Amino acid sequence: MSACVFCRIAAGEAPAERVLEDDRTVAFLDIHPAGEGHTLVIPRAHAETIWDVTAEDWGAVWRTVRRVAAGLRAAFDPDGLYVRQANGHLGGQEVMHLHAHLIPRYAAGRAPGLGGLAPVAERLRASLEGV
Ligand SMILES: [Zn+2]
Repeated sequence: MSACVFCRIAAGEAPAERVLEDDRTVAFLDIHPAGEGHTLVIPRAHAETIWDVTAEDWGAVWRTVRRVAAGLRAAFDPDGLYVRQANGHLGGQEVMHLHAHLIPRYAAGRAPGLGGLAPVAERLRASLEGV
């Protein structure tokens, strides 16, 4: 078993609220959301940073980011969306498997207030079927 938690999630060996996947990428909810609907996108193949990832996987990650962004808008209609990708500890990276964050931002009182990861994932998965 891999020591990398994101490799374990990609392989289905660690639990995660998966919302979208294809042959190169997996998208799942951040377990410590900075905003309701906070989603991570990773390549299935382990790569630590932008300096390690293949061009194909980099492109695949950003195609999935764009699709998840559409799903987040359809599901939650956020007022803004912060997309972040960090490289190395000094770059702000916490898990050393390349990932992009999508963090929806809501005006005061506009967050969906679903109260947990499971209902957020359920609504996002449903909306992603249509985008
Ligand atoms: Zn990994």
